Amino acid sequence: MLPDSKSSGCLYLVASPIGNLGDISSRAIETLVNCDFIACEDTRVTGKLLSRLEIQKKLISYREENEKAKSLQIAQEIEQGKKVALLSDAGYPCISDPGFRLVRECHIQKLKVIPIPGPNAALTALAVSGLPTHQYTYLGFLPKKSAQTRKILDSWIAFEGSIVLYESKYKIQKTLLLISEIMGEDRFVCLARELTKSHESILTGRIAEVIEQQSKSSGKGEFTLVIAPQDYSF
Ligand code: SAM
Repeated sequence: MLPDSKSSGCLYLVASPIGNLGDISSRAIETLVNCDFIACEDTRVTGKLLSRLEIQKKLISYREENEKAKSLQIAQEIEQGKKVALLSDAGYPCISDPGFRLVRECHIQKLKVIPIPGPNAALTALAVSGLPTHQYTYLGFLPKKSAQTRKILDSWIAFEGSIVLYESKYKIQKTLLLISEIMGEDRFVCLARELTKSHESILTGRIAEVIEQQSKSSGKGEFTLVIAPQDYSF
């Protein structure tokens, strides 16, 4: 317990697989077995994970739409001594996923928060990309509106590290074209698709080449994009 923590309860931030079930850690499994209940983004998704792990546990929904109210409720349970595991559908909770409000509430109320690290698409893509890792920024999902996206991309053109972002299958081609227009078609990138899954693909090269390759693929899957600093290539 933290020196000034007022409860024996705590919040565990449990990272879950981004595709490959084998990536769940033994510490994550132990936490899921021993917690009082699980707060998760989608009870069906976490329910499936639990049934594959043969764990039975009470699940409550904690998602973007109810985050505010649920954060207070869950913090109250922790304050009363409950051990709560927080999971998102995939990867690390709080990272482009619900969780931040609950973690903040726990800190405000001096309740213990314990990270159970594990899979995360952004860091997995960065590590496998071959692009510089000494300095990087994480932009998460770019805004829906092109004008806002342009503004953001403009402001990062001269960044000296790599830029990591998430994109949906519906927008990936459009976003690649926009990046090419703003940062130039020679900008070096890595498009990581379906990481840890059977159709995993890691495309690296000039963005113009990656766009061409991508246009020949099925276009399906989950994508993380890493953009290299200006003038970087191999
Ligand atoms: N919390 C998650 C994490 O720690 O990585 C991210 C959740 S965010 C809602 C989902 C996005 O992450 C997807 O749209 C995609 O851009 C990226 N992503 C998730 N799984 C991925 C995978 N297996 N391969 C590539 N990108 C992935």
